[in-house]
Amino acid sequence: MKQLLREIPPVHELQNSRRFKDLIEKTDVPVKLLTKVIQQVIDEIRTEILDSHVTIDLSKQSFIDYIWMKVENNLSKLLQERLTPVINATGTVLHTNLGRARLSDAAIEHITHIAGNYSNLEYNIDEGKRGSRHDILEGLLKEVTGAEAAMAVNNNAAAVYLVLRALAKEQEVIVSRGQLVEIGGSFRISSIMEESGARLVEVGTTNKTHLYDYENAISDETAMILKVHTSNFKTIGFTESVDTEDLVALKNEHNGLIFYEDLGSGSIYDFKQVGVGEEPVVKDVIESGVDLVSFSGDKLLGGPQAGIIVGKKELIQKLKKHQLARVLRVDKMTFAGLEKTLLAYLTNKAEIQLPTIRDIVKPLTEIEQQSHYFISELKKQASEYESEVVESTSQVGGGTMPDVTLPTIVVVVSHHAYSAEQLGERLRHSQTANVIARIKDEKILIDFRTISQEETDILIQTFVELLK
Ligand SMILES: *Cc1c(COP(=O)(O)O)cnc(C)c1O
Repeated sequence: MKQLLREIPPVHELQNSRRFKDLIEKTDVPVKLLTKVIQQVIDEIRTEILDSHVTIDLSKQSFIDYIWMKVENNLSKLLQERLTPVINATGTVLHTNLGRARLSDAAIEHITHIAGNYSNLEYNIDEGKRGSRHDILEGLLKEVTGAEAAMAVNNNAAAVYLVLRALAKEQEVIVSRGQLVEIGGSFRISSIMEESGARLVEVGTTNKTHLYDYENAISDETAMILKVHTSNFKTIGFTESVDTEDLVALKNEHNGLIFYEDLGSGSIYDFKQVGVGEEPVVKDVIESGVDLVSFSGDKLLGGPQAGIIVGKKELIQKLKKHQLARVLRVDKMTFAGLEKTLLAYLTNKAEIQLPTIRDIVKPLTEIEQQSHYFISELKKQASEYESEVVESTSQVGGGTMPDVTLPTIVVVVSHHAYSAEQLGERLRHSQTANVIARIKDEKILIDFRTISQEETDILIQTFVELLK
């Protein structure tokens, strides 16, 4: 052990070697950075030796080669892309951990175009002077939601925060106990309310809230009634909540009282019409007389991360003027992505152009066809796998439509030499593509609902490669 420790060369000796120069030339990193990596590797090796964990086989590799191999590994890890595309084989369309909505080709193209150029983000080309970024999408948002006015902020959590802070600070906001939701573990209506400075007035019980609960809670201090869409869970059994229409009627009896609905997913596309779930359409909610509605850009809308607020002009005006609007403002790339996403709705092409909508309503026959193609190619190219199709269900995800399961077909894959765990790990780390799949009953499940035609061939390649 002491012998090995003594063999670690001093850093300056490694710096003077030919391989140091070669690595600098190959990677273009500064001398200082490569030196730091070398120093780290030496520290690592010293710890390895002291812990007797050295993985070096001195009969095959010299100690110096071992050091340089580690340096190259650490350096390439440092330089590789951190944010990387993955193939989502889970069938969950809005997978929050996997980045939620995939954008349309048109949106991607527009984002690239806008990102690489100057734009009229805050410039009025007609008048030749300063404009407002709020004006860019307002017309489109009004068109697809039927609202008087609209704006966008960073995400829907930000939208909720802005609305509460700007319109109900130090006043009371009435919320049903059945709607005090937590979303994704980090967003709680009660906590965001506390941050905003608005005072939460809880009414009703977990399973039942009546109109009179709201009625009795209204006081001089009440600024707002907040209805929160219970997007990610469903109460069943002995339950009751108050309809939006009744809350609108109640609000109308009280001058100045604001009725705000946090819709969460906020669908523009009417999934009900194609037999998927009971998600309210934003246009209908606005039409029913709600003052303000907010929803996410990257859930059922199928666009980039954003929070959309639509509703009464006078209220939106206040929100736009609030200091927080500046804090929560949206970047040009987001505007570009949102614009093309909204245009898909305006031209009735949502289920053709937007991957989110397309995948949710994807016909079973298409999933079947992809599955069978996958199986037959796998049989041809890597016959050691066992694979078959099984009926299953996929989820919408993103905390939306929790009670809706979409009938699907999954391909169940196994291999005699590897456990499902091992296959899953190899799929995640493959050089060809990082594939995220479900595991059930010691088998890998591949759901083609969330896999495009192009990805299917890459997926086959990945399975073939990972046996090598
Ligand atoms: C998802 C969701 C949010 C948070 O939206 P983000 O865009 O993720 O910030 C807030 N409220 C409800 C009801 C939601 O479903």
